Amino acid sequence: MPHQGTSLEQALSRRGVSRREFLAFCGMMAAALALPKRASAMIEEALATPKRLPVIWLELQDCAGCTEAFLRSSSPTAAEIVLDVLSVDYHETIMAASGRRAEEAKEAAIQAGGYLLVVEGSISPADNGVYCCIGGKSSVALVEEAAANAVAVVAVGNCATFGGLPKASPNPTGAIGVMDLVKDKPVLNIPGCPMNPVNLTATVVHFLTFGALPEMDSLHRPLFAFGHLIHNNCERRGHFDAGEFVRAWGDVGHRAGWCLYQMGCKGPISSHNCPAVRYNDGTNWPIGAGHPCIGCSEPDFWDWPTYEPIVLQEATPPLTYPSTENVVREVTPEGAAITGGTLGLIAGAVGAFAYSTMTGRKESNPEVGEEEVEGHGVEEHEEAEEPEESAGKQE
Ligand code: SF4
Repeated sequence: MPHQGTSLEQALSRRGVSRREFLAFCGMMAAALALPKRASAMIEEALATPKRLPVIWLELQDCAGCTEAFLRSSSPTAAEIVLDVLSVDYHETIMAASGRRAEEAKEAAIQAGGYLLVVEGSISPADNGVYCCIGGKSSVALVEEAAANAVAVVAVGNCATFGGLPKASPNPTGAIGVMDLVKDKPVLNIPGCPMNPVNLTATVVHFLTFGALPEMDSLHRPLFAFGHLIHNNCERRGHFDAGEFVRAWGDVGHRAGWCLYQMGCKGPISSHNCPAVRYNDGTNWPIGAGHPCIGCSEPDFWDWPTYEPIVLQEATPPLTYPSTENVVREVTPEGAAITGGTLGLIAGAVGAFAYSTMTGRKESNPEVGEEEVEGHGVEEHEEAEEPEESAGKQE
């Protein structure tokens, strides 16, 4: 850990990271925050100023996946060094102290005040909070105590933001997210399962640069990361618009990278910057690896039927997309349905009918041989796609 008064640039320099790479990091943060290019200079100035932001990081009902995601950034990364520049006064997973000494360190940090409170994991108020206690205190008491002197609270991961897996039906611990308990402090949510560490880094950089949390949506999520549907920026979107869908795992469409909507993708109802930022330092993301989005940035996603298609209400292609009417090659039945759906969406209710028709169709994909879907028969798959049985969340 750097000494008090160490700037991010100095910490980077000691790790062999050049000034050029530091400036590239500032530019990357400006881009991640969807700020104009000139903001890069403001970020550079803010991070070059020796100061350390105290942080208390609580882990409650969680799997530590968000901590793992943040610490597993490849090294030496600027993300790690931002953590170095922070003064992490309490984080039970990574701190050297334990037991009473760890709790004393937290109490001292709380009394000093002026820290950023990061919460990972859900709060469990049921039965007087007996399901999650640390140091003899319930998760409710721990959050209330730590939030009291915090300048702001950042909830990371779907558990801390919306209750996550512990809140899934029947929610035996009465799990809730931080914003359901903390009402008198600014609360910013970075959902995901796990959260993307780039979004936490960018939030911290924004706070260090501008002294405030970034602009948020109605679910307290930063707009720079959650301002757009995954569906609108997905690399497979062209296949959706062309009616080219994966119909069975490993079929021709799956191997060719077609749209995963029919396999239950929740991208059309999930807001996240996964398509642009990806995971593991931009290596890949679930849809890129061939798995449908499960909607981990949205409330109650664990209760959604993962592999059942949602019933689309609105999925209007961006205006920049070419019209699906101009497709000259042979179109699939899905393509025809999509074309009808696109026109219908413009008119209103007709669109929903067209998409319902698409999801309930009975014809097989002529580009997918019967042999290739053996064991995952088209008819068998289509039975699971009846709109009435598709209980996914609607927008
Ligand atoms: S349905 Fe899923 S895989 Fe298909 S384009 Fe939308 S987000 Fe991408």
